[in-house]
Amino acid sequence: MKGNILVTGGAGYIGSHTCKALKQAGYEPITYDNMVYGHEWAVKWGPLIKGDILDGEKLDQVFKQYEPLAVLHFAAFAYVGESVSDPEKYYRNNVAGTLSLLSAMRRARCKNIVFSSTCATYGVPTELPLREDHPQKPINPYGWTKLMMEQTLRDFDHAYGIRHACLRYFNAAGADPDCEIGEEHDPETHLIPLVIQATQGLRGHVEIYGTDYDTPDGTCIRDYIHVTDLAVAHIQALEYLQDKDESLIVNLGTGNGQTVRQVIRAVEKVSGKVTPVKEGPRRPGDPPGLYAYADKAYKLLGWKPQYGDIETIVGTAWNWHEKKR
Ligand code: UDP
Repeated sequence: MKGNILVTGGAGYIGSHTCKALKQAGYEPITYDNMVYGHEWAVKWGPLIKGDILDGEKLDQVFKQYEPLAVLHFAAFAYVGESVSDPEKYYRNNVAGTLSLLSAMRRARCKNIVFSSTCATYGVPTELPLREDHPQKPINPYGWTKLMMEQTLRDFDHAYGIRHACLRYFNAAGADPDCEIGEEHDPETHLIPLVIQATQGLRGHVEIYGTDYDTPDGTCIRDYIHVTDLAVAHIQALEYLQDKDESLIVNLGTGNGQTVRQVIRAVEKVSGKVTPVKEGPRRPGDPPGLYAYADKAYKLLGWKPQYGDIETIVGTAWNWHEKKR
């Protein structure tokens, strides 16, 4: 065993897939999760400690007991709409919570953190594909919390030598190819689960938010990246921090965009069914296109998506949703 890794938010969607990848890579994932959105069934590859990142004493106990080599920090609230209506909840949990975690890391002399950032820190793109040096101008409080955490990490690196890998995810999607875990949000707001549920007959239809965008078929383009590919990137980032002792900021996307209609077609193809669809108005705050310049992660980490095409991504998600029906 290579050592313990503290995984905040390890009971969530991306966190739990990363715990599996950690175990496969020879680490022991120690999940620390307040279970507000996490699932007990998703914690299968190491212990679960129920606790909040705002609870410094509890964090101290955990650092003392497990002496983790590093922290993978997934714990955050991530509903964009809710961040607009209740920003206090987001600044408290995401920003103050991260500060509390970093303070505990300082007390424990833990020097490496891999952080879940997002393409939402870029705001509305002025240039595509989005490169890591694109200006960061978030358009909602959720994006601001992530940008503030990035800045905090930069300052903590400079002042205290805590090294970070900021991984800016594009649209996380799909499920564990072995179907052991997958995506489950309540409420569900993401496109792929909603399309699948409509196709399974569990929802009346899926609504397309806007069909008049300046894109090939009028619907929004996003860069869907398989959750297992994201998980693997975390291990590579962790080992980069351990080997190089320098911080890192990279996009994690495939570099290829898919329209909403292409996603729906992919679900229809893998399921062999017809998806009930309604065309609706644009959702406020949605840029027409978001996709990554994805080469930096490859150059620095050797990371390359293994489940790159949309049918494979959607296929793993479909299998998971069928299993849990
Ligand atoms: N979308 C849609 N109908 C839905 C949910 C999402 O048309 O019921 C579109 C949304 O406008 C965006 C894309 O699907 O262009 C991905 O949305 P999602 O909420 O999954 O992720 P986001 O890109 O907002 O992080």
